Amino acid sequence: MHIGFLGLGNMGGPMALNLLKAGHALTVFDLSDTAVANLVEAGATAAASPAELAQADVEVIITMLPAATHVKRVYLGDDGLLANVRPGVLLIDSSTIDPHSAREVAKTALAQGNAMLDAPVSGGTGGATAGTLTFMVGGAPSAFEHAQPILAAMGKNIVHCGGTGNGQVAKVANNMLLGISMIGVSEAMALGVSLGMDASVLAGIINTSSGRCWSSDTYNPFPGVLETAPASHGYSGGFGTDLMLKDLGLASEAAKQIGQPVILGALAQQLYQSFSAQGNGGLDFSAIINLYRKDA
Ligand code: NAD
Repeated sequence: MHIGFLGLGNMGGPMALNLLKAGHALTVFDLSDTAVANLVEAGATAAASPAELAQADVEVIITMLPAATHVKRVYLGDDGLLANVRPGVLLIDSSTIDPHSAREVAKTALAQGNAMLDAPVSGGTGGATAGTLTFMVGGAPSAFEHAQPILAAMGKNIVHCGGTGNGQVAKVANNMLLGISMIGVSEAMALGVSLGMDASVLAGIINTSSGRCWSSDTYNPFPGVLETAPASHGYSGGFGTDLMLKDLGLASEAAKQIGQPVILGALAQQLYQSFSAQGNGGLDFSAIINLYRKDA
C-alpha cells in the first residue's frame, strides 16, 4: 500500500521505518531535513510539503506530530492536508492531543469525504522501534477495519475505543492515572525509607500487597529497586517529566470542557509543573520522588 507519513520525530521516525519493513511504499514529510533523509535512505520518497504529500497517490496518510496546534496547522491550513487530499484517502492521526481538537479535525475531514481516526499510542520510543506499540483508536468501525493491518505493522495491541476522539480519551485517562499513581508510589516509598525501611524490602511488600501497581512493580521510582527502571539510571531515558506534564494538561483541559472534576489529576499536574520549573523537565517522570526524598 502507498502511505503518506508526516512527522518523523522520536516516535514517527521508527514507526515509518516499520511500515517500510512491512513492504509498504512511503511518501514522507517533516520540517527536519535530517529526519526526512533518514527515511529516504531506508527507501521512502520525500515530499516537499504537506500539500505535495497529500497530492501523491497515497491511500492512507498517518501523522505523528507534537501537539494539537501542529495537527490543526497540518490538516486545516490553507496549504495543508485537507485542502489537497482527494476524497476517500483514510487519515490517521497518532499524535497525543485533546479529544476536542481530534473531533474538530475529524469532523472537517469527514465533511469532505475523508474518514479520520485518532490513534494515539503508548509504548514509548522502545515500542515504536520494536513495533510493539499499543494503538488506542477512535473513529468509525469501517475506518478502523481499514486501518488495522497498517497499524499492525507498528503495534502489537490495536484497540478500537469507540467513536471519534475516544482514542484520545483512553490515552488521557490512562496517562492521568499513571501520573497520579507514580506520585502515590513515590510518597509511600519515601515515607517508608525515611521511617527506616530498606527500599527493596518495602517495594517487595507493596508488590505482593494491595498497594501494587505498574508504578511500583515495573517502574519503581526508588533508585536500586529495579535495575531496568530509569530510577536506577539517573532518571535518564524513559518518559520525560515534560511529556507527562503535557498529558496531564490535556486531561485537565478535557475535564474542564465538560465540567468533570479531576482533583488528583490537577494536583498531580501542579506537582510535575513545580518539579519541571526546578529544571527537571528532561528527567524521567519517576524522578518526581525527589520532591519527597530528604536525601536526594
Ligand atoms: P518529536 O518532537 O520527536 O517529533 C515530532 C516531529 O514532528 C518532529 O520531527 C518535527 O520536526 C515534526 N513536525 C512538527 N511540526 C511539523 C509540521 N508542521 N510539519 C511536519 N512535521 C512537523 O515528538 P515525538 O516524541 O515523536 O512525539 C510525537 C507525538 O507522540 C506527541 O504527541 C507525543 O506526545 C506522542 N507520544 C510520545 C511518546 C514518547 O515517548 N516520545 C510516547 C507516546 C506518545
